[in-house]
Amino acid sequence: MAAMRALTEHQLAVVDLLRRLGETSPTDGTIHNVDCGIHSGFPPCCITFFAKGWDRWILAYSTLRAHGETREQLLARADPLQREALLAMDSYRDMPLLGARVGYIPCPRCALLRDFVSPLRCRGHLTKRQRDAVRRALAA
Ligand SMILES: [Zn+2]
Ligand SMILES: [Zn+2]
Repeated sequence: MAAMRALTEHQLAVVDLLRRLGETSPTDGTIHNVDCGIHSGFPPCCITFFAKGWDRWILAYSTLRAHGETREQLLARADPLQREALLAMDSYRDMPLLGARVGYIPCPRCALLRDFVSPLRCRGHLTKRQRDAVRRALAA
């Protein structure tokens, strides 16, 4: 019988949340966001928001922005995915409190309800081998 490498409880939690996000072959960055979100004690809604909304917005924004363009200029240059990422953040950016005092990026619902957690100390992340095992479990 082939040696079965059992996933740790933490890896199983990462697999479970990635599955709920609809990720079948997530990038290392997405696995990292979920990995870190879980061991930091963030609620699944906020991890989901960070991985699917916030992180993609930052990426689209930093990829598109060269000088001091306006939002309209960025939108005009954006490809469809970047455009979606930029528009998705519009209402959130108008909300009065962002990460500053909370210590992490809460999802819009938790921000509105002021339902925050105290982040646990980050205690190291999945290795490349462990991330590959997560991807294999997702593909299975
Ligand atoms: Zn971490
Ligand atoms: Zn939340």
